Amino acid sequence: MTSKIVNTKTILSGLFLASSLFAAATSAQEHHHEEHGSHTHGQATLTFVLEGNEAELAFATPTANLVGFEHQAKDDTQRQLVQKMIADFTAATWFSFDAQAHCTVTGTDISSDLTAERTTKPQHADLNANYTLVCQNPARLQSLTLDLATIAAGVEKVTVQWILNGEQGAADWVQGNEGVQFK
Ligand SMILES: [Zn+2]
Repeated sequence: MTSKIVNTKTILSGLFLASSLFAAATSAQEHHHEEHGSHTHGQATLTFVLEGNEAELAFATPTANLVGFEHQAKDDTQRQLVQKMIADFTAATWFSFDAQAHCTVTGTDISSDLTAERTTKPQHADLNANYTLVCQNPARLQSLTLDLATIAAGVEKVTVQWILNGEQGAADWVQGNEGVQFK
């Protein structure tokens, strides 16, 4: 009898351990997704780093905010939407800085899960738009203007972070705002 009780306890604690581990693994996965924060529908992230005269701007958004879907294009209409998305971000006209800062885009690198070869069926897809810039008068950099209404209508909020020659800052851009002030 004694050994039977022990066995039951062992089995119970084993089951408890297994379910705890499962729960921990599940919540870790959920947290992983949330903590990264890089893929939340309606939101996007932008980082801008200036060192001397050279700058890098990185923008990331779920493609749902741009074309309304995150699966591979299924027909010509969707393929055209994806092509337009890439062209819009390659054009690099959706952001601008104070004119006196004289910043010009010197390089663009646009990539998207929607144009990449993927072997697994994706749950989500992102667009990453990276730019390099040269600012002739970086001391005059005071604000970043965003014009996302036409090319990224689904973006309601952009979390903007910057480092301007060592000075860090952050601000949220929300739909309807013109831009963010560096301060
Ligand atoms: Zn998604």
